[in-house]
Amino acid sequence: MIDWKTIDTVLFDMDGTVLDLHFDNYFWEDLVPARYGERHGLSTAEASALLRKRYESVKGTLDWYCLDFWSQSLAMDIPRLKEDIRHKITLRPHALDFVQQLRASGRQVMLVTNAHPGSLDLKMRHTGIAPHFDHMISSHTLKLAKENAGFWSALRERHDYDPRRTLLIDDSLPVLRQAEKEGIRHLRAIHQPDSQRAPLHPEEFVQIEHFTDVMSGLDPRE
Ligand SMILES: [Mg+2]
Repeated sequence: MIDWKTIDTVLFDMDGTVLDLHFDNYFWEDLVPARYGERHGLSTAEASALLRKRYESVKGTLDWYCLDFWSQSLAMDIPRLKEDIRHKITLRPHALDFVQQLRASGRQVMLVTNAHPGSLDLKMRHTGIAPHFDHMISSHTLKLAKENAGFWSALRERHDYDPRRTLLIDDSLPVLRQAEKEGIRHLRAIHQPDSQRAPLHPEEFVQIEHFTDVMSGLDPRE
């Protein structure tokens, strides 16, 4: 249970938290290897193995999330390819309802994502959920990924929030760990970020299974 009396601000991750991670997993693990393989005369399995190594080499850095980096490094039009499959972008169950109820309760609600501004824009255009957030922040504008030291204090300089009275919901363990180090008191992970894959094993953070479970007891802010 979440003690809502102790929370003024809720920070939502985007991919895997508000939106189904299936879009991104399908894009990077199926579509990109298939197209890359076609272009270079490789089987999809060969292309996958090759790309996996390249993904690993930049994980945890902003490049991993950067459309320009991948367009250049793979010589593919990554934004265009994302546009082609935008119909696969979907909200996680009850995410919008939860965000709306939080706003109605008088709390500050922000979307804080590692997605490139171009991906953020595509997803907002497709889902239409942007007006429901007080602020939307792509970590690229702070030149740090959310799992990098200093991100959460840099965010505070732009958008004031009290870390002791803030809840962060995110499907990434490295991100939750960094937020914890920087004093964000309330942290929740996501049980099943990708609707097409098995749920994650519970680790050091309490997981949210259904947003409806945590919406109960959501009182107006005092
Ligand atoms: Mg995420």
